[in-house]
Amino acid sequence: MKKTLLLLALIFIVSTSFAQELSYYLPADVTYNPAIPTPEQVIGHHVGEWHVTHDRLVNYMKAIAAANPDRVKLQPMGNTYETRPQLLLLFSAKKNLDRLEEIRLQHLQLGDAAASASLNTANMPVVVWIGHSIHGNESSGVNASLLSAYYLAAAQGKKIDDLLENMVILFDPSFNPDGMQRFSTWVNQHRSKNLVTDANSREFNEVWPGGRFNHYWFDLNRDWLPGVHPESQHRLQQFQAWRPNILTDHHEQGSNASFFFQPGVPARVNPLTPEKNQQLTAAIANFHAKFLDKIGSLYFTKENYDDFYYGKGSTYPDVQGCIGILFEQASSRGHAQQTANGILRFPFTIRNQFTTTLSTLEAAYTMRKELLDYQREFFTMTKQEAGAATNKGWVIGEATDKARTGLFIDMLLRHKIEVYELNNNVSADNVNFEKGAAYLVPSNQPQYRLLRGIFDKTLTYKDSLFYDITAWTMPLAFGLPYAELTAAKYTAGLRGNRIDSVQHVAGRVRGEKTNYAYVFEWNEFYAPRLLYELADNGIMAKVCSNPFEASTADGKKKFSYGSILIPVALQKTDPDKLYALLNAAAASNGVDVYAIGTGMSVSGVDLGSASFINVGKPSIAMLVGTGVSPTDAGEVWHLLDQRFNIPVSQLESAVFNRVDLSKYTTIVMVSGNYTDLSKEKLKAWVQNGGTLICMEDAVQWVAQNGITNVTFKKIPAGIDSSVALPYASKFDREGAQLNYGGIFRATIDLTHPLFYGYQQPYIDLFKAGKTFPEKSKNPYANPASYGNTPLQSGYISKENYSAIKNSAAVIVSTVGSGRVISIADNPNFRAFWLGGTKLMMNALFFGKIIDAGSGRTEE
Ligand SMILES: [Zn+2]
Repeated sequence: MKKTLLLLALIFIVSTSFAQELSYYLPADVTYNPAIPTPEQVIGHHVGEWHVTHDRLVNYMKAIAAANPDRVKLQPMGNTYETRPQLLLLFSAKKNLDRLEEIRLQHLQLGDAAASASLNTANMPVVVWIGHSIHGNESSGVNASLLSAYYLAAAQGKKIDDLLENMVILFDPSFNPDGMQRFSTWVNQHRSKNLVTDANSREFNEVWPGGRFNHYWFDLNRDWLPGVHPESQHRLQQFQAWRPNILTDHHEQGSNASFFFQPGVPARVNPLTPEKNQQLTAAIANFHAKFLDKIGSLYFTKENYDDFYYGKGSTYPDVQGCIGILFEQASSRGHAQQTANGILRFPFTIRNQFTTTLSTLEAAYTMRKELLDYQREFFTMTKQEAGAATNKGWVIGEATDKARTGLFIDMLLRHKIEVYELNNNVSADNVNFEKGAAYLVPSNQPQYRLLRGIFDKTLTYKDSLFYDITAWTMPLAFGLPYAELTAAKYTAGLRGNRIDSVQHVAGRVRGEKTNYAYVFEWNEFYAPRLLYELADNGIMAKVCSNPFEASTADGKKKFSYGSILIPVALQKTDPDKLYALLNAAAASNGVDVYAIGTGMSVSGVDLGSASFINVGKPSIAMLVGTGVSPTDAGEVWHLLDQRFNIPVSQLESAVFNRVDLSKYTTIVMVSGNYTDLSKEKLKAWVQNGGTLICMEDAVQWVAQNGITNVTFKKIPAGIDSSVALPYASKFDREGAQLNYGGIFRATIDLTHPLFYGYQQPYIDLFKAGKTFPEKSKNPYANPASYGNTPLQSGYISKENYSAIKNSAAVIVSTVGSGRVISIADNPNFRAFWLGGTKLMMNALFFGKIIDAGSGRTEE
């Protein structure tokens, strides 16, 4: 004990010599508990001297939690892909921490309109979530978390005691540990003893993909709603466990800017966010202004950004009785950078972030009862709205794709949305929803507003400027049949048991072991994973290009386009092993496999027909690196690696230009700029039989470089150049012509290999950017194309819409012995566009078998 005290005393003596450094950040009128380690005592450098690495950040958070258990409770949320811990620290007064679970349960009652009326909010703590640097290379937030944590653990006096007695602070030091680690490694390795401020220097110019993203190069600040990634899933679990009153989201913006905080532009707020939310955000903003005025920092509040997409951290809370707040600090990117406002130093950026944490806490303390009352009002009002709505609920589910339906329901459950089994068949909007294959989501529940944010289509907007996508209607993105139910349809008998998790439905081999053949259908989500697993085990398979009907153990069964045939006699594996392998793979992939004892079909083609075409194991490379969209490439990587267990080689242009490509059957080019790529080499590889899959503007690159002869529609300018326009209107006019993305419905050919497994004659695609291909003159080469009224949901300018109308969505081009599949849109968008997944997988597996004549055009 004595030893520890001595050590602490020594540390304290050392630290006092750095006191000047900490005093730059910390409020002057506060004393600090010497038993709590300062950041530099644990991380080994001053805050802002180097960029803190994630391991050191974790060490510090652990150290203060250990040093002051009366104020801090450390709660690991889970791990990232790269196994870094995601920490949540709970700061409060001891008397609150001692009854934390009781406080949490009482707080959650604010969301329960039946129970909340009796709550006495005058006595309840307010719950504030402080969150940092979801973009890993916007690191002033995460570095400020060292100071905020120190302040909350070590500050002494009546002010902090009052604050903690009235508040539970959920504190997330790093929203994106893998990205921030990547970035800190980059800037620290380039730091000079004499700081170099030249913006051209390598320190300020990260290599691809940069630290903004998570492991799979996703923008986690678009994933709060889809919740695809573990980082989001762990965080959402805690968000929903607490439903905070305020959530802060500390970011960085361009280096020449100042500091931004919401409320922002009123017309760019999602209409499902209540007016009162904006008023409270504005009231909180006054605290930030006051605190930043005091340290002389410039800021702006009524321009830029939007508060529209509920997948963003500062918008997601707004539809749940919470106030989400976006902070954007001008970025020093490295340690100190020359900017329009002089040299922007890293410590200065950290101080602004820390200061706005203090102002947030002061606002929460001052407005405590108001914020608690607002949350109660929000859910009371929502319940009334839900009760009055003509839509009594949604029914959703695809009987032929249990896994994709399950992934949608998983997404709903992450947001504590009430979901029930469907107890009876129901027909609505000309779709039959079957008991056991569809789910019921009642309107009358606390998350009704968020549900509308998930299910609604949006076609009218108050503003034409956006910062992100304008529509994300989830059932369309997932490609699932769904319908709203009126009171007449919504009968009591429909509602089955409430579910709290989705069970994986295992597939099986239906029928006994056979020496003849096995067949499985292509409609289930994981059918491609099953096919790849079999191919990887040396099993030979054929795809059916003509439907047939066969006798199975379940009786006569029709098999559609894309069904996969495994002829037993053609395998090198013996029938017993094959049977065992199929049983295991059918179970894990959720796909039923049918044993068939004869080649003679009941109707349609027989099993020896040439309509069954060999499908090999694809060997896939994707072009990555400078110029390529990291998120688009990451979506392909995540899709193949995480969902389908298929390896994909990541080729940089420089590598591509010097390696032997003959081992690849398939090359993927996502949206990007491919100036360094050898087009001759790529074309020769396609001509030799390769399958090239290109998407969005890569479609244009491939055409412009003479690999395909796809042509493009001209976009009307939207501006009459003979008329002078006000200079000040330029930004708004040009912004309105950008296409941040909406949902468009293309007609598809269900008999085409690229659309095997689809059930409806259409696909809803996410379309952003300006790739509008003309349809090919070959009538078989446009398996997906847009008609006259493709818009389903989202904002699109008149000019851009006219270019989308009657354009091609997918074009197949025959180039020598190879094929180029041009997909104008992004079928893999943000890993929740599961309606596009089968198109992508079909391109990978079946691109090669598309008939040559169907993709040929006359020059
Ligand atoms: Zn950001």
